[in-house]
Amino acid sequence: MFALAIHGGAGTIARASLSPDAEREYHAALETALNTGYDLLAQGAAALDAVEAAVRSLEDCPLFNAGRGAVFTHDGHHEMDAALMSGHNRLAGAVTGVRQVQNPIRAARLVMEKTEHVLLGYPGADELAREYGLPLQPAEYFFTQHRYNQLQDALKAGKMQLDHAADPNWKKGTVGAVARDQHGHLAAATSTGGMTNKRYSRIGDTPLIGAGTWADERCAISCTGNGEYFIRAVAAYDVACLIEYKGLTLEEACRVVVQDKLAPVGGEGGLIAIDAAGNVTLPFNSEGMYRGCRREGESAWVAIYKE
Ligand code: ASP
Repeated sequence: MFALAIHGGAGTIARASLSPDAEREYHAALETALNTGYDLLAQGAAALDAVEAAVRSLEDCPLFNAGRGAVFTHDGHHEMDAALMSGHNRLAGAVTGVRQVQNPIRAARLVMEKTEHVLLGYPGADELAREYGLPLQPAEYFFTQHRYNQLQDALKAGKMQLDHAADPNWKKGTVGAVARDQHGHLAAATSTGGMTNKRYSRIGDTPLIGAGTWADERCAISCTGNGEYFIRAVAAYDVACLIEYKGLTLEEACRVVVQDKLAPVGGEGGLIAIDAAGNVTLPFNSEGMYRGCRREGESAWVAIYKE
């Protein structure tokens, strides 16, 4: 059983505030990403390739807060974070604070495969991408008017904002994917612009292995939400620990982390998870989460609001 799940961020996503056209756009973008990853898995590709491809597709779509649609920092720049992890061999790569690379998830993979490091940041990470010929883009490529407006509002309010918390009309978020391939291997990938009005050089949970992204031989996890809470909860790794040490099922472990641990302290958001048997769960404690799943032999399923 091979399978893939994706998310496009969690937050305040009220049904009333999303027009049918906008809803269709999101569904289409999520389906495209799902099918991109699924087709690779169906051809026998590694889970790592599938999650990278799905995340790239979402990074290229301006609807989501990653790559092209990344949010602005307090000083009006983009600083993007991304990470991926391969479960069976525990290899991981991540970048933080990149400003130029078109697809931060590809830079994260370079860190994993071409360096001895796990996490590379700032100009050094953009430089690595340049060295290996990844496409770089000028600042204008990452500019979107609604993200700019969102920053102005956040500046006025004087606080850092989760992408979709700023205004009901801006419901786009961090992206991620988890997969199980035909060989039974698991992988996870996450990519984000972070939080609107974040202080420059702020690092969220996304590129921190164990906080926003994790994969081992039991499960693969990609998180989205208020990063500082996910870091303090070591959220993604906690799911793996609850499975390993407490014998919980994937679904129980994810519920404990998202509903019992994160929600009570204000850790708004959710995660997507897959286990070695191909079980998938997509829990969140926010109003909505862009999400989808496609399992072997089935068609793509996507959703936005609570069911
Ligand atoms: N977790 C991301 C961060 O804190 C934001 C998000 O998921 O929307 O950088």
